[in-house]
Amino acid sequence: MDASETFDVVVVGSGAAGAMTALRAASQGLRVVILEKAHKFGGTSATSGGVMWIPDHRLDGDKGDSQASAREYLAATIGVPVNEERLGAYLDAAPEMLRFLKASGVQVMAAAWPDYFPDRPGARADRSVIVPTFDGRLLGDARYPLMREQYNRFKLFGRYSMDLVETFALMMQQKGWRMTVAKMITRYWRDRATRKVSHRDRRFTQGAALMGATYKAVFDHGVALRLETKLESLVVENGRVTGVNVTRFGKPGVIAARHGVMLAAGGFEWNQALRDRFYPVPGLARHSSTPEDANRGEALIAAEAIGADVEHTRSGWWIPTMTLPMKGASNFHEIHQAAFDVGRPWSVCVNRNGDRFVDEATGYDSFGKAMVEDQLKTGANCPCWLIFDAKFRAKFSAGGLMPTVHTPEHKLPGDWWDHYVFRADSIEALAARIDVPVERLLATVANMNACAKTGVDPEFGRGMNIYDQFFGDPTVTPNPNLGPIDKPPFYAVPINNGDLGTKGGLRCDARARVLDKGGTPIPGLYAAGNCSASPFGDCYPGAGATIGPAMTFGFVAANDIAERSGNQRA
Ligand SMILES: Cc1cc2nc3c(=O)[nH]c(=O)nc-3n(C[C@H](O)[C@H](O)[C@H](O)COP(=O)(O)OP(=O)(O)OC[C@H]3O[C@@H](n4cnc5c(N)ncnc54)[C@H](O)[C@@H]3O)c2cc1C
Repeated sequence: MDASETFDVVVVGSGAAGAMTALRAASQGLRVVILEKAHKFGGTSATSGGVMWIPDHRLDGDKGDSQASAREYLAATIGVPVNEERLGAYLDAAPEMLRFLKASGVQVMAAAWPDYFPDRPGARADRSVIVPTFDGRLLGDARYPLMREQYNRFKLFGRYSMDLVETFALMMQQKGWRMTVAKMITRYWRDRATRKVSHRDRRFTQGAALMGATYKAVFDHGVALRLETKLESLVVENGRVTGVNVTRFGKPGVIAARHGVMLAAGGFEWNQALRDRFYPVPGLARHSSTPEDANRGEALIAAEAIGADVEHTRSGWWIPTMTLPMKGASNFHEIHQAAFDVGRPWSVCVNRNGDRFVDEATGYDSFGKAMVEDQLKTGANCPCWLIFDAKFRAKFSAGGLMPTVHTPEHKLPGDWWDHYVFRADSIEALAARIDVPVERLLATVANMNACAKTGVDPEFGRGMNIYDQFFGDPTVTPNPNLGPIDKPPFYAVPINNGDLGTKGGLRCDARARVLDKGGTPIPGLYAAGNCSASPFGDCYPGAGATIGPAMTFGFVAANDIAERSGNQRA
């Protein structure tokens, strides 16, 4: 191999999985490089909510969670056979990884967030962990603008950073929300020193806080970062992966790895051909809510080319999204998540036959699964419709359509109507506008209005568990997720089966080693995050269930590499 550079560990991809692999490996004394094909680092992870699902984390002492109860919960929620040893490795290593993250200077705290199947045995509401905020300028003025920025919707007016508490306060227009807004704006403009350097808020929140704080530790450990460096293929010598072929600024090159190559290059959500190959209902890459120039499955293709196996590739980390054009914005900003909007009162979701198909307030991944199942059954889903009335429109967002308190009707661009947003003075007229059978839609709305009166949804159980209620409106009784759809005008927006990334990928063992089709580890090759198959198979058990395992298996892989290289430290 004619390598231009040699490192102990080569990490492909700069998201959560890659950052943790690099940090842990460097902490063990290994020389590490991160290769990132984009012009910014941090991946989808930096644009995310930054929540990690870590059962039995014990951040606030012993609150009664245990590995046994997490196992019970996972056994009751995972719907396909999974590698039990790998699942066990996750439960063992996740709290250890979190302690290491904390010891590396990253401030972490538990967040009250119900598991996504709150009625299953072993479910809890305290397994999610967040990094509250991070001062982005601690990365240094040269690096601080180089971290990938968040989705516009995660910032107030696309500019002011919001943490999760502020996000929920604004989303629900909780008491004092106007004061919260004023404080956020004042804080930003008072920071004159930063305003001279960048428009970017130095207060990193959510995924930016997680990745900013982690990267501070990564850089402090001397890890090298190469942007604009794309993995093309893997170098194999005598049956062992010993390096990577890359393109850097358009020029081919080879980077050698003495002890291991980590594939942490995200999933394949932006590769339509792989979606078509793996998914029963492929959907469109452009409905994904991850950054559009990033995850195209190149690492998966490179590993398959040397015999790697894949698993759990039939589904993504689903989330309902809607499209709304924004002035001068890319696809990434035009895709709006509607995860919590679809379960608010005074609304209902129907397929194109006008029928309900799900408890709309359920977890976003379950919502997506229900869309796929309904599409396979009826051929009339993906997209489905979110129908709501004037009360909903006044108070809640519907994907990118902000409530009237923020965006009154007269401010909506004329080209949105009858393309992205539909409005009519009666349910009959609305049904005609969106080409849904009038009688069915009338019957569905009448049924929802009856449920709203009793507070009971016998068919789907909407608003009848703590997860649903968590995102409902507490001022609406008797059920915070159900309200009559009866105040004109009535609205409809199409909802797509979007995603936060892909769930399946390279098949790995309990040490994050990539397996070949015979189940044997490919020497020198590791994978973590969405590049690898989820340890949970087809299931999204709780908030943070993608980043939790991504960081945990990055940690596990680095430990394995360090042990094999004889470099392991405490
Ligand atoms: C808005 C939003 C909010 C979310 N919130 C949460 C949350 O709170 N909790 C949670 O658990 N999950 C959340 N998710 C999902 C989560 O962000 C992803 O599942 C997770 O970040 C994936 O991490 P990763 O390290 O595998 O990949 P990524 O963070 O996507 O990083 C992969 C990196 O690899 C790079 N890459 C790709 N191909 C190559 C190549 N050929 N060569 C070199 N580099 C390459 C990409 O450019 C990218 O930077 C959210 C997603 C979105 C979009």
